[in-house]
Amino acid sequence: MLNLPALSFSQGAKGATDLFVATFGSQPEGVWQAPGRVNVIGEHTDYNGGLAFPIALPHRAFVALSRRPDRLVRLVSSADPSDVVSLDLDQVAPKGENGEVSGWAAYLVGVAWALEQDGLGPLPGFDIALESCVPLGAGLSSSAALECAVAVALDDVAGLALAGPADNPSDVGRERLARLCCLAENKIAGAPTGGLDQAASLRCRAGHALALDCTDFSAEQVPFNLSESGLSLLVIDTRAPHALVDGQYAARRSSCEQAAKLLEVELLADLDPEQLDYNLELLAQSAREQGLEQQVDTLVRRTRHVVSEIERTEKLIELLQTQDLTDASALAEVGQLMNASHDSLRYDYEVTVGELDTAVEAARAAGAIGARMTGGGFGGSAIALVHTQELEQVAQAIAQAFAKAGYREPAFLQAEPGPGAGGLD
Ligand code: ADP
Ligand code: MG
Repeated sequence: MLNLPALSFSQGAKGATDLFVATFGSQPEGVWQAPGRVNVIGEHTDYNGGLAFPIALPHRAFVALSRRPDRLVRLVSSADPSDVVSLDLDQVAPKGENGEVSGWAAYLVGVAWALEQDGLGPLPGFDIALESCVPLGAGLSSSAALECAVAVALDDVAGLALAGPADNPSDVGRERLARLCCLAENKIAGAPTGGLDQAASLRCRAGHALALDCTDFSAEQVPFNLSESGLSLLVIDTRAPHALVDGQYAARRSSCEQAAKLLEVELLADLDPEQLDYNLELLAQSAREQGLEQQVDTLVRRTRHVVSEIERTEKLIELLQTQDLTDASALAEVGQLMNASHDSLRYDYEVTVGELDTAVEAARAAGAIGARMTGGGFGGSAIALVHTQELEQVAQAIAQAFAKAGYREPAFLQAEPGPGAGGLD
């Protein structure tokens, strides 16, 4: 059932190198990689100043790269080897400022632009061949994987020394690279993402999840070694068509901002979860006083999701820091937190779709310890924490439920927390 296998480091390196040689006619200087990510819990908390809790996927983007003596950039992806993009680094500029790099090339060349904006240039031109096994548009950050692979490659060949060696990564340098990759995605690719994806791809470590505080991007490594505990994280790419996503995302953000304003806090993360009922009452009252009667119910539900989700994320992190996943009651609690997260996203935040709810319901009924949607919602992926021996049966039950509901066939992958971006020896 696991029909989205990850490329091993050697397969990825070979794929990228072969494509490089076939396209550019020489050997690359090296190959670098960066993973996609999946968020374990902490959804729609980032722009509210809360915590997120991602892991690096075993699924990665690999880039083979050589510097050039000029400022030219040539790019090719194994997704379409006949499409070789060629552009001048001096022509790259944000959308609307005469810089119209379109399509996938923007994610790669945008990183060079962002590094130079931050005073790390001038950089040499370069040739890149890309091979990636992160599914595109499944909410698993195939875009951040591209950016972060280019970031560590340029960091290395241009001698910026920000990422640090694989066995002793520099979190400070990687935080800066992550910020610049996010800038590239916002300004050059024109996608309004918040920085979680790039932080995860660059700063996650094998066997760990990253407790990421989205107010200041400070982070802590939390042990999350699934295989040692006989557990697996099943990722279900629902392949549901994304509909109306942009407008819905903006609407959620604006409800949160409005609620924070009515409650006179800067961010919803500033609210004490112990005082949730009181604050929701206050919010309703304040909204009514402002003549926002029609919006009271929505504002209350959005706020309840954000505050309770931050609390769940804190609880799950604390559980993993203090308990062993082989302990049955601790594991049950992890499952309950994941389930409660999904239910809150479904009923209070209203960002699920039929495919996500079906995947989660089928997973739970087939014995998953916990299951939830992951990422922004409105399509994308769900996750299920399962005992490894039940992985196949859970995946099968989900596939059957999709067939019965008349949904597109879902795809499956297994996510053991892997290392962050880096070079390949
Ligand atoms: P996600 O990051 O959730 O996968 P995005 O829409 O943010 O979805 O990013 C997907 C985009 O990233 C694709 O439309 C494409 O432009 C680019 N991309 C990702 N992987 C590849 C690849 N292997 N080859 C070319 N472009 C890619
Ligand atoms: Mg993306």
